[in-house]
Amino acid sequence: MYASDKTRQLQETSKSLLKRLAGKPLKPADISTLRQVLVFHEYRYYILNDPLITDTEYDSLYKSLESLEAADPSIIRPDSPTQRVAKSLTKNFPAVHHLVPMLSLENSYNADDLLDWDRKARELTGLSGIAYCVEPKFDGASISLVYKNDLLVRGATRGDGVEGDDITINIKQIRSVPLSAAFSDYGIEQVEIRGEVLMNKENFKKYNAQLAEQQLPPLANPRNAASGSLHIKDPAEVGRRNLEAFLYHVSYYADSENLDINRGEMAGTESAHAARSKKTPLTHSDSLDMLWNLGFRSPQKEKIVFRNIQDTIDYCLDFESKRDQLPYEIDGMVIKVNDFALQDKMGMTTHHPRWAIAFKFKARQATSRLLKVEFQVGRTGSITPVAKIEPVPIGGVTVGSVSLFNEDVVRSKDLKLGDSVLVERAGDVIPYIVKPLTDLRTGKEKKIVFPTQCPACGDELVRAEDEAVLRCININCPAQVVERIIHFVSKDAMDIRSFGAANVLKFYELGLLKDVPGIYQLPFDKIAALEGFGEKSISNLQSAIEASKKQPLHRVIFALGIRYVGETTAKTLAKAVSYLPDFKKFSLDELLALEDIGPKVAGSILQFFENPDNLKMLSKLEGLGVNMRSSRSDKTETGNLSGLSFLFTGTLHELKRSEAEELVEQNGGKILSGVSSNLSYLVVGEDAGSKLEKAKKIPAIKILTEKEFLKFMGKAT
Ligand code: AMP
Ligand code: ZN
Repeated sequence: MYASDKTRQLQETSKSLLKRLAGKPLKPADISTLRQVLVFHEYRYYILNDPLITDTEYDSLYKSLESLEAADPSIIRPDSPTQRVAKSLTKNFPAVHHLVPMLSLENSYNADDLLDWDRKARELTGLSGIAYCVEPKFDGASISLVYKNDLLVRGATRGDGVEGDDITINIKQIRSVPLSAAFSDYGIEQVEIRGEVLMNKENFKKYNAQLAEQQLPPLANPRNAASGSLHIKDPAEVGRRNLEAFLYHVSYYADSENLDINRGEMAGTESAHAARSKKTPLTHSDSLDMLWNLGFRSPQKEKIVFRNIQDTIDYCLDFESKRDQLPYEIDGMVIKVNDFALQDKMGMTTHHPRWAIAFKFKARQATSRLLKVEFQVGRTGSITPVAKIEPVPIGGVTVGSVSLFNEDVVRSKDLKLGDSVLVERAGDVIPYIVKPLTDLRTGKEKKIVFPTQCPACGDELVRAEDEAVLRCININCPAQVVERIIHFVSKDAMDIRSFGAANVLKFYELGLLKDVPGIYQLPFDKIAALEGFGEKSISNLQSAIEASKKQPLHRVIFALGIRYVGETTAKTLAKAVSYLPDFKKFSLDELLALEDIGPKVAGSILQFFENPDNLKMLSKLEGLGVNMRSSRSDKTETGNLSGLSFLFTGTLHELKRSEAEELVEQNGGKILSGVSSNLSYLVVGEDAGSKLEKAKKIPAIKILTEKEFLKFMGKAT
């Protein structure tokens, strides 16, 4: 969408605006330039996934546009980046008529189905071979967008296919959807395009982690997360969910010469195509290129055109094998006749177009039986019901245990012991029970009874008024102690690698480990006598424990397992103090003043630091050498480099190699051990050798000098 000289020019303009901003506010004359660079940086970030400026820099440009526009609202254009924000809705979403009905797709499940379909398509068209365009079938919520005179004027859900809900204000929150696009360059005045809104796997995980922090049951899968989000009446909340949109279909357009021209399932005719402006695409594949060139995220890189069905089938199967490596969920592939004229000739049924078919991947659902429910005690004492089911393979993994989260979930699904159940496991999402198959009940199924006493310590369980969970409030409950230690050593907390849940349990049962500080006082002489602990594994464990003492403060805070304090809150807290025990002095109001900390979380933090046992544990940990002070990585935006990988080669001058690597890791980046297409940046010092040569051959790898790297990190930290 932006040629490289345009890219360079916009980047330079951004830098000079930023420079001027550091001195004094920008002027009204800068507004149009500001808009232009902000749209450009949104494109770099949300479409290409390759930002050229930091979030902070983007924010300062954005704020500056916002204040200039506030001074003179008459100059605000509807496609200004500031116009994505909107107030909450008080009414329901109005119904709208789709310009072309949104039909379903025919399904196929194997190569034979596709061979059949190809045969029929050839019979129908009288051709010996047909060109097919193949692309992923995105597993989200479908939307239709209407652009008129280059402006986004409407966004709607699929609804029943004929009528959907007008969710324009929520669609505007999805940053990969451009508010304006130069369709006029193609001679198109009005266009309806279709696509799928998704929440990618990483954001889905984060979102569920946030729900878990609030002790709410997680969402079942990214598809539900996406479709649920589109109907929220608070657009700002929709924005926070970080949705993305892939646009894969142009269903209707009218050009300047003839406003009545339709294309798509409804009224496409050969003459309609002939009359269309020359610039408009004539094949599906070209229409995806057009969307991409206009700044949309279309499956431009993923799509491919084949001239025969066997290659098409092979591509589908190959994609299926890579399914888990994609950042988002797909549930199959879609095969479309590439030529629009041919599509029109083939037409549609009332249910689906004849020129397209979905190739569905293997289901990630299976049926099983609910054998029993066990009750597990978590580190905060919460009791979680866990379903034990007859083990079934789903998506390559055998599933025998499925969390049921809490009593409300069990009740709302009306689950009974002995039920046949439908189980789903989507990607790396934890498996869950979709529903009991009530038609298969025999009458012998039994009610699930919740315990009144803790299964680990026997204490009476309590249920707080506002909570769906039962809880054991015995602070010394052995199950809780073990869970707290497991959490402390876990990867996202202190990351003591060779420890793991199994060792925690073993050491605890043998009396070698009684509490969290005990991690740093393990009797290694006794451990050495245990089976399975050789010299090597002991020395690995020792050095991992030793290294964990230097973890940044936000990890230490997260590791403590304070209720409602997840990784995000831990980072906020680490920024707020320079010495952890200082939280003793914080008042409720001071905690509430911190970013994103509400009364529930603040109350829990206060409680933690009021408890003398907890303070004793902290001073014990400090005495054993565990870091209690915040460092630079706590104070800065950690995770700026997340998703990026680095490799260093040659001699560095300003930093030691290990320091440079640490800097990357502290900022959320990864260090790779060799040059591959997964590498984002190769940093070259003096006398760089073969790695540099190899990296030069892979266009995706960016090569930085040490100086450039330092500058880059200066921006990033
Ligand atoms: P189904 O809901 O199983 O009938 O499948 C049809 C749905 O697949 C459409 O309504 C779209 O929402 C969705 N879909 C996802 N990706 C694509 C794609 N690349 N092309 C067409 N439809 C797609
Ligand atoms: Zn207990």
